[in-house]
Amino acid sequence: MTTATQCIFCSIARDTANPDVLYRDDRCFVVRDINPKSPVHLLVIPNMHIASLAYVGPGQVPVMGHLFVVAEEMARRENVTLSGYRLTLNQGPDAQQTIAHPHVHLMGGRQLGDMG
Ligand code: 5GP
Ligand code: ZN
Repeated sequence: MTTATQCIFCSIARDTANPDVLYRDDRCFVVRDINPKSPVHLLVIPNMHIASLAYVGPGQVPVMGHLFVVAEEMARRENVTLSGYRLTLNQGPDAQQTIAHPHVHLMGGRQLGDMG
């Protein structure tokens, strides 16, 4: 299991001077995906390392719910609010999650295919 000290998203969270961070507050931060799948492809990432959504309970609602508020704000900044966008949160192998620190993908700027 990836620990917070090994986690790439935790290291970005700790680096408060990282110029790649588009948005930051006390609960989350936003970066562009390093390998974008659409013209707009952002990652909304909680500051806190949570190894799995299995560990998310009522105590994490203020953080997890906040990700969606920030995602909508970022969609507005990226001018995709009206054209539309997709929010995706992958969990586990079948979803092809590669980084074990929850994050919401915000994708837009093109016609997105079927979910599959
Ligand atoms: P997952 O597959 O876990 O849902 O998504 C992980 C995403 O993180 C992938 O889309 C991948 O391109 C992106 N990613 C991996 N390493 C980095 C990195 O160091 N910086 C940024 N900005 N994105 C990364
Ligand atoms: Zn982490």
